[in-house]
Parts: sequence; structure tokens; C-alpha cells
Amino acid sequence: STPVANFCALSKAATSGLLIKGGEYLETLSKIKIMAFDKTGTITRGEFVVTDFHSVSDDVTLNTLIYWVSSIESKSSHPMAAALIDYARTLSIEPKPERVEEFDNFPGEGIHGKIDGKDVYVGNKRIALRAECATAPSIERLGSEGKSIGYIFLGSVPAGIFSLSDSCRSGVKEAINELKSMNIKTAMLTGDSQEAATLAQNQLADALDVVHAGLLPKDKAQIISNFQKEAPTSMVGDGMNDAPALATADIGISMGISGSALATETGNVILMSNDIRKIPKVIQLARKTKWKVI
Ligand code: ADP
Ligand code: MG
Repeated sequence: STPVANFCALSKAATSGLLIKGGEYLETLSKIKIMAFDKTGTITRGEFVVTDFHSVSDDVTLNTLIYWVSSIESKSSHPMAAALIDYARTLSIEPKPERVEEFDNFPGEGIHGKIDGKDVYVGNKRIALRAECATAPSIERLGSEGKSIGYIFLGSVPAGIFSLSDSCRSGVKEAINELKSMNIKTAMLTGDSQEAATLAQNQLADALDVVHAGLLPKDKAQIISNFQKEAPTSMVGDGMNDAPALATADIGISMGISGSALATETGNVILMSNDIRKIPKVIQLARKTKWKVI
């Protein structure tokens, strides 16, 4: 396309809330045939609410466990961290991040921190390996409704379990159906559990063509490069865990409002609102631009 056509399309995209970091990306956008989405914070709002919280240890009270977890989560920018901090505060437990001596973030897995001399691990089932524990805590009635489940270990001992709920952003189903009508294959790539991924897919009336759960950041990038063997692929994400996949994709699209700094730096296109419906729109614009002769 000509520079003039490009410029018009870029400014048109900008006024509709999409920042395209260079004219060349517009041309690539017109060729996208596969669109992969992160789940948490991209397809869903990433506004978790803690729905259950249990101690499975006789060595610690529930309140102390909530205090430790919320204090360590205060060091994390993950959407689940905010929910756990809110949960503590509703129980009048004030998190004390200043008491946390060590902190490790394991993207796609969870966190570790040291507080009151205890090594506390919080995350999904993968965090059990970090805690060097063979079995995750379990409670019969948790995990059956497709909520996200979190596990807590003290050292290598299972100590607690909690569940969180999140909901899909409005307009996502429409956006995915629109992409499909444009012959674009859609996928969801998530670090969350299969159950939570299935719930989101159900809320979208099974609109997505492909769903992959339990992924580490490098797994997301690997799936993107597999897609690329098929056709030009775009990835939409918000988290630091999405950065490798955003960098691998032909076009990385990051969520501008709620996205992490690393995701917005890595993306080629920034969605300046949380409205996923802008994505099929910008591809339509890019497809038109390519054929415009000035
Ligand atoms: P998604 O790919 O859906 O955006 P993430 O890769 O951000 O999900 O996270 C994957 C999983 O890792 C979460 O569902 C959660 O179980 C776990 N996790 C990551 N960070 C944290 C944290 N700070 N606290 C608890 N769990 C976490
Ligand atoms: Mg995310």
C-alpha cells in the first residue's frame, strides 16, 4: 500500500482506540489467518473474586494463612493477587508486604515468599513442584464449577486451597464470531487450568476453534510458532507471561489499559480500550488499506 493510504489507516485506527506501532504492521495485519487469545485479563476481565479459602493444615490458623498469602501477593501484579488482598481486607486482615523477606515470581505458576520465617508458595498445581511436594492440597467440592483454583504450601507441606471466579469481557463472543466470519481461526492459550478454560469457552458458546490450558509462557510461544507453520498468526495478551508469545507472533496485540508494562512494550499493536471487538475492525481496515490504490 502507499504511504498515504497507510497514514490514513493508521490515524483511523488510532481514533478508534488502536495504536499501531508502525505502518508495516498494518500490512501484516491484513494477512492474519489465526488469532490466539490469552484468557485471564484478555478474554476475561481478570477481576477475580475469592469464592472459597480453606486451611488444610493443623499447624496454622486460617487467618494467619490469609495474612501470609495476602502479604506475599502484595508483591505480585497478577490479577489473582489483587483478589487475595481484597479478600484479606474484607476479613479485616491487613497485608504487610514489608514483612516479606524473599520474593520469587514464577510466571504461569505462582509465587514464593518468605514471611515470619516460613517459605510460602501460592499458585496452580505447578507450584507444588517448586515447593517440592508430590501432592497438591485438595478439597472435594472445590474445582468442579470451573473456577480457578489456587494452592498454598508452607515449605513442602500442603497448607491451603482457594477458589476464584472471573468473568468474560462483554463483546468477546461477538468479536470471535466476527473473526470466524472473516475466515480467521481463533484459539485460547491459558496458564490457568483446563476446568477454568472450559468454563470460559462455555461462556462463549464454544465459539473458539482451539483451547489450550495449563501453559507456561514458553508453551504459549511454542504453540504460536506451530500455528505460524499453518498461516500468519496474531496473539492478544495482557500479562508478562504472554510476552514470549507476543514477541513470536507475526503481530502481538497487547491490552493497553490493564496490560503489564512488558506486554505493552512487546506488542506491535496496543488496544487502548478493553474492547476486543476493535480487533476484527482493525483487520478489516488493514485488508481494505492493502487494496486501496492512491
Ligand atoms: P493466563 O494465561 O490465563 O493469563 P497466567 O499465566 O497469568 O494465566 O497464570 C496462570 C496461572 O498461574 C494462574 O491461573 C494461577 O493459577 C497461577 N498464578 C500465576 N501468578 C499467580 C499469583 N501471583 N498468585 C497465585 N497464582 C498465580
Ligand atoms: Mg493474562
